Amino acid sequence: MNLGPSKRQLRPVKVNESPVVEVRGLVKTFRRNGRWPWSPVRQIPAVQGVDLTVAPGEVVALVGQSGSGKTTVSRIVLGLDEPTVGEVFLEGLRWDGLPESVRRPLRVNYQYVPQDAMGALDPQQTALEHVEETLTVLGGMSRADAHQAGQDMLRRLGLGARMHALPREMSGGEQRRVTLARVLALDPRLVVADEPTSGLDLDRRESVLEALIGNLPPDAGCILVTHDMTEARGWCHRVLAMLAGRVIEEVDLTVAEPAHPYARILFDPWSAPVPRGPLATTGCPFRPDCPLASGDMQAVCAATVPQLSPLGDAQDRHRVACHVLAPVDGAGPAASNTKSSDSPPTETNAPAASSPAENP
Ligand code: SF4
Repeated sequence: MNLGPSKRQLRPVKVNESPVVEVRGLVKTFRRNGRWPWSPVRQIPAVQGVDLTVAPGEVVALVGQSGSGKTTVSRIVLGLDEPTVGEVFLEGLRWDGLPESVRRPLRVNYQYVPQDAMGALDPQQTALEHVEETLTVLGGMSRADAHQAGQDMLRRLGLGARMHALPREMSGGEQRRVTLARVLALDPRLVVADEPTSGLDLDRRESVLEALIGNLPPDAGCILVTHDMTEARGWCHRVLAMLAGRVIEEVDLTVAEPAHPYARILFDPWSAPVPRGPLATTGCPFRPDCPLASGDMQAVCAATVPQLSPLGDAQDRHRVACHVLAPVDGAGPAASNTKSSDSPPTETNAPAASSPAENP
């Protein structure tokens, strides 16, 4: 199966500078009350041991099916949710747990593009008024400066002739570009875009991503949450594929193809059906549908959650969580009854979600 390399010219990345985002050992468990007052409280593991870095200029895709944990990770990065365990740094500043009074003046640098553009827009405001208001309230600009900067940004995003249109008079793609204009006009350091092209046809998806990524400030980082693998392949430097709250593969699609059997199905859904059934609650969550888990490996895959490990040598940034493709010390058929390592994702028989609620 040749999935084909990415062909687009990607933004320059400053890999040697300190990252815009650094997430270490992120765990998020939601608590849900039972049906009755005496029912036990349920613990729902939404994210289990995720690490993530975004360098200046870099665009990183978080991909996976609904419920994989990608939206929860992105919300925690922006401080819209708190992690249960783990650390989040934005431009070197410990961000999780920071009092909102400290975060608030900094939030202008870290912007969120919502999935529901129509819901994010005021039906009574024109495109230009939306951007002007953002620049005066969040950006601290004078009205005259905001008026000029708002016009400039809308023209850059191809909305020069639609500045005075109301949301109901715009197409879906134009509404998305207005939400992008508000974010990009603030000159952010980080943009987290949650399914920004959801519900659009192919041409409009391309124009929205062109508007977003083509107009990011040069040193800004971007996290693109998507389930569209074409977008991830065409616009992103790295892709993190998630399943059941864990990253199961990290790959630069300009130099390599997905290797994990689940990620390969995500990127080439014509090759096999994307699994819809319940995931395994012990060991590797993908094992009920995995073509690689046969023979002696079945016991290993059932006993131990695979860790994200380099596919090649220790320096390889292409990493896969699979006992067959990237075995870590002690894992393998001969070690079917052993744990593989000492970090959180190695727990055996962990309560991996059969379909963890994303952003419940
Ligand atoms: S760890 Fe086992 S079940 Fe999971 S993807 Fe690898 S071979 Fe398949």
